[in-house]
Amino acid sequence: MKRVTVISGKGGTGKTTLSASLAVLSENAIIADCDVDAPNLHLLLKPEVVEKRTFKGGKLAVKNPDLCIDCGYCRQVCNFNAITPGFEINPIKCEGCGTCVAMCPQDALELKEVETGNVYISKTEFLPMVHARLNIGAENSGKLVSEVKKLADNIAGREGKDLILVDGPPGIGCPVIASLNEVDLALVVTEPTKSGFSDLKRLLKVINHFGITPLVVINKYDLNKNISKEITGFCQDRGIEIAGKIPFCQGIVSALRLGKIAVNYNEADRARIAIEDIWNNVKKYLKE
Ligand code: SF4
Ligand code: SF4
Repeated sequence: MKRVTVISGKGGTGKTTLSASLAVLSENAIIADCDVDAPNLHLLLKPEVVEKRTFKGGKLAVKNPDLCIDCGYCRQVCNFNAITPGFEINPIKCEGCGTCVAMCPQDALELKEVETGNVYISKTEFLPMVHARLNIGAENSGKLVSEVKKLADNIAGREGKDLILVDGPPGIGCPVIASLNEVDLALVVTEPTKSGFSDLKRLLKVINHFGITPLVVINKYDLNKNISKEITGFCQDRGIEIAGKIPFCQGIVSALRLGKIAVNYNEADRARIAIEDIWNNVKKYLKE
């Protein structure tokens, strides 16, 4: 079984548009939407939820008022200003570090696991899907990404899937690193802008650090052919393969507006041909 993460250094590069198209083109795969902070793959794949699981990814200090003697030690040691002058825990500010629990002379405090999101197992018209949503303001999205990937792995193993496609989160933070863990290939989507190029460089450093092979996709490459050329040169100098270049296509804009997938939309023909080439390159790489 192979694992491919589609990733980009920033949002809005067309990563999810490409992921949804690859989901359609793939033959025996499962897809994991690891953009748990702001998921949007469901808008295109329209999953039907089969199972919903609660995710407990955070901890919170909880006080037993019967044991508290109002000594105030907890307030003195909390570095997050999460304890009120009346020695109550502010759940928004509490980071669950446990310092107050360790310092309370009365054992009046304990850390409790709290629900920080939900994980969904779904079916779609094309392939099974695992996705999640982090609660508003909740942290630890890296842990939730790992949970989504683990669940997709289990289902893929049970159902004899050949491939796990991961739609990764944007950026280079902890959730991105979690989405790259133990994958065979990172398909990196960029766009020909100064900021897109700069984000690509940062992301390639992270990918390189973890020893993963990147393939690069330049989306809307023809909007700035000079920067596309610079990106191509940069990749060639480092032995990084360009998996393909997708032209700007008004049909993709119309497809997205209608909640349709690019490769399934007639008016997005120019882009579809490029995406099919990219998919063939990915398959070729995975076979090698
Ligand atoms: S340290 Fe314990 S006993 Fe003291 S105020 Fe805090 S909760 Fe109450
Ligand atoms: S667990 Fe940490 S952050 Fe939360 S109230 Fe206690 S000391 Fe403050």
